Amino acid sequence: MPSPAEPIPKKQLAAVSDDSSSLEIREIPVVQPAELEPGRALVKVLYTGVCHTDLHVVRDEWPLKPQRPTIAGHEGAGVIVAINDPTSNLKVGDRVGIKWIADSCNQCEFCLSGNDPICQKAKISGLTTSGSFQQYCPAYVSQLTPIPESLDMSQAAPILCAGVTVYKALKNSAARAGQWVAIPGAGGGLGSLALQYAKYMGLNTIAIDTGDAKKDLTKKLGASAWIDFTTTEDMVAAVKKVTPDGLGPHAAIITSPKPEAYLTAMSYIRPGGTVVAVGLPKEGAVVTADVFWTVVQSKRLVGSYVGSRLDAIEALRIAAEGHVKTPISIEPFASLESVYTRMDKGQLSGRVVLDLFK
Ligand code: NAD
Ligand code: ZN
Repeated sequence: MPSPAEPIPKKQLAAVSDDSSSLEIREIPVVQPAELEPGRALVKVLYTGVCHTDLHVVRDEWPLKPQRPTIAGHEGAGVIVAINDPTSNLKVGDRVGIKWIADSCNQCEFCLSGNDPICQKAKISGLTTSGSFQQYCPAYVSQLTPIPESLDMSQAAPILCAGVTVYKALKNSAARAGQWVAIPGAGGGLGSLALQYAKYMGLNTIAIDTGDAKKDLTKKLGASAWIDFTTTEDMVAAVKKVTPDGLGPHAAIITSPKPEAYLTAMSYIRPGGTVVAVGLPKEGAVVTADVFWTVVQSKRLVGSYVGSRLDAIEALRIAAEGHVKTPISIEPFASLESVYTRMDKGQLSGRVVLDLFK
């Protein structure tokens, strides 16, 4: 039986998009503890990050189409206020995170091997089930991530997507301590975390983005080099030149939401290097790679999609230990539309985290 910890209101605020051009913060009912389906917990969402994915989703930019109306959001940090799952170790009062992967079957080849993001029955926060842009989210228990006590909740929020995604992407790059990694999109939400997880792993980073604010931020976060993609004529030559032997970085983690970053990466990585595709531009974007040199220089291209439950636990632990600190600005729930506008124009450095009760 569900057990509520505190009085649960009948109504809450949620950011609802009825179609690709609408966004309204409006009152909707709260799923009451007695109404919680088995395997679900009601999470009071204190903070949620705003990921560029939310913008792609509500604007209908991808081949994957959201359910409508859409309540997006998948970097939610909150507290369980009711739970209907006697088999779970989680309980009322626990601090938990809501990720992009909301639920998976736990039985297929992918789930069994820790690849639950590619479970063909996975449910997705903000796309196929309502996400963290609501004050009380009826979340699936199976994919909730415990948040370490020592980690501030506003700091935990961006780790639940941006953090785990870049942490996993760096693992998938196979780059090792002492090697070089290029990070297009380095001044954004994912990129600013990629710089720090890379440093934690002993890697040298080449930050690629634009503008003085992002240049300063990436330097502060430990980037070894900076390249402004808007003022650099020959990106391939500029990126290669940074590495001591001029052969280019061992890997590139593409965290840009715009397709242009995918046009040069396979050319500037060194022989034997890996391009990790992470950013998800509009439908129709392509990676360009010269077949002859891809073969003859044994280059690799890999897709990397969020991370497993264990990756999320590890990414949070690394942040809790103080190795990673997201550059966040905390804004009230009502500013979501303005956050989207600034994000679309590339004006945000780091991550905006919404305080849902302000
Ligand atoms: P963001 O808006 O916070 O940051 C993007 C950054 O990219 C900005 O600083 C922008 O200036 C920079 N940029 C734009 N064009 C560029 C270019 N041509 N070269 C280099 N930098 C460029 O976005 P975010 O929240 O960090 O998300 C980034 C992308 O990652 C989005 O497409 C998002 O959907 C995707 N994403 C993928 C996964 C996954 O699992 N693969 C997970 C989360 C987000
Ligand atoms: Zn995300």
